[in-house]
Order: sequence, then structure tokens, then C-alpha cells
Amino acid sequence: MEPLDIPQLNWNDYSRNDAVAAALQDLRRVTSRKIYLHSRSLVPGVPESFYCAWSIAIHIFIDEFSSRVNHSIVHELLHGILVEEGYHKISARLPISVNQILSNELQHPEIFRRMENYRLNMALYWPHWDGQMRSKLDEMKSQVLDPHAEFAHFPRLFTWFFFQQVSKPYLTVYRDHHPHVFQAAQTAYDDTRRIGFADVYSQRKSIEIFKNHWSQFCGRHLPKDKFGLELTDQLRGAAIKPLIDFERNRAGTDIIALLKNHGLRPS
Ligand SMILES: [Zn+2]
Repeated sequence: MEPLDIPQLNWNDYSRNDAVAAALQDLRRVTSRKIYLHSRSLVPGVPESFYCAWSIAIHIFIDEFSSRVNHSIVHELLHGILVEEGYHKISARLPISVNQILSNELQHPEIFRRMENYRLNMALYWPHWDGQMRSKLDEMKSQVLDPHAEFAHFPRLFTWFFFQQVSKPYLTVYRDHHPHVFQAAQTAYDDTRRIGFADVYSQRKSIEIFKNHWSQFCGRHLPKDKFGLELTDQLRGAAIKPLIDFERNRAGTDIIALLKNHGLRPS
């Protein structure tokens, strides 16, 4: 299969940074796929650096002029490392926005932990997440008229408990708006924090426990209308699958279509 025709950045310009070099080496050790680096400016519709992958390649898009470019590269490489190590995802027919939380945000507690292990200076990185959480919090607070919104709040809140060094103020504000979601997510956190996500077995276990808490929460708090019951049912019957299953058979043309949807211009 041919590589995708997307202009590339040169790894050598970035792997002078020790953390980038180490993370790139760690991903190369666990993958047989090619790893490409690109400028995020090629995809103007995506506001942040990101990761996407298909059967034969992993693509990482970054802002090459950002002061935290090395942090972003390591972050995205770690998404690839977790996929290759066999990390899992809750798989069900859920809204796209919720699926994004499950495949992206739910990996972040472990990604942040490993970023620190690569000895990145996280003090330079947290202000970015501060901004991210502020805007997510605003979004969640604005959803007062959506009776199903808490379905998506739960998994996000759960992840926030794992990096309270930045999330604490946002958790506190959220608690005042949706105390029962806060409580339930905190209980899920208390039941998983010692197991954690540091390897694929603990991650599987934590995800299972998290899923049960989320499912119970839905049974208790989601409206018993058609959509509410559908979400609850989907989650109850959801499978837990390796993330790689979602990439293994993906075609390069799917990636190009996805990127074009977000503004990639044909070259
Ligand atoms: Zn991420």
C-alpha cells in the first residue's frame, strides 16, 4: 500500500529533544506501522494537534511553531503507544462526540502520567489544559436544556479526577452545577484510582469498573424517554475492545476523507 500524499515534517528536526526521541523510539519498538509527522496547518478545521492512524501508518499533526510543540508530539506519540500496547475502548453505538471522549479523553490520565515520566516540564504544558478545561466546563454549563447532556459529562469528569493538579478548580465549579454527576464520577474514580491505567491489564480492569459505574448512573439519572433508554441500553450491552481494532482495517482513503472534511486541500 502507498503512503498518503500529505506533506511531511522531518522527524530529525524534532527528535533532538530527549523526550520526543525517547517516545518516538518507544513507539517504533511496538509498531510495524510507519510514523509520519505533519503540520496541523494543513488541516485548518482542527484546532489542536492530533493523531490519526490506519492499517499501515500513524499520522501526527502538530503546530510546529508552538512553544509546547515537544509536549504535543510526545502526547500524540503516546496515543499511538497505548493503541499498540493493546489499550481498550468501550465500543457501542453512541453519539460521535461521546465516542471521541472514549477514544481520546479517556486515555489522557495515562498519557499525562507517561509524559511526566519522559521528564517533560509539565509546568509549561498545564496552562494549555487549563484553557481546554475552562472551555469544556463552559460548554457543559451551557447544556442546561439538554436532558441527556450528563451522559457525556460523566466520562469526561471521571478523567478529570486523575489530574486534579489542574482540574481541581473546574471540578469544584462543576460540582455546584451537577452534584449527582460529580458524586457518581468521584465514586468511579475512587474505585479505579489504585488500579490505574499503567499497563494494559489494569486499564482493562479500570475501564470495566468505570463502564459499570457509568451504566448505573444512566439507569438512575437519564430521562426514561426513547433516547435516554437507547443510550442506557447501548452502554449496558457495550463491548470493551482493543483500540487497535478500530485502526487495523481502516483504509488510507478513510483518513484522507476525514482530513478533507476538516479542510485538507488536495495536493
Ligand atoms: Zn490526546
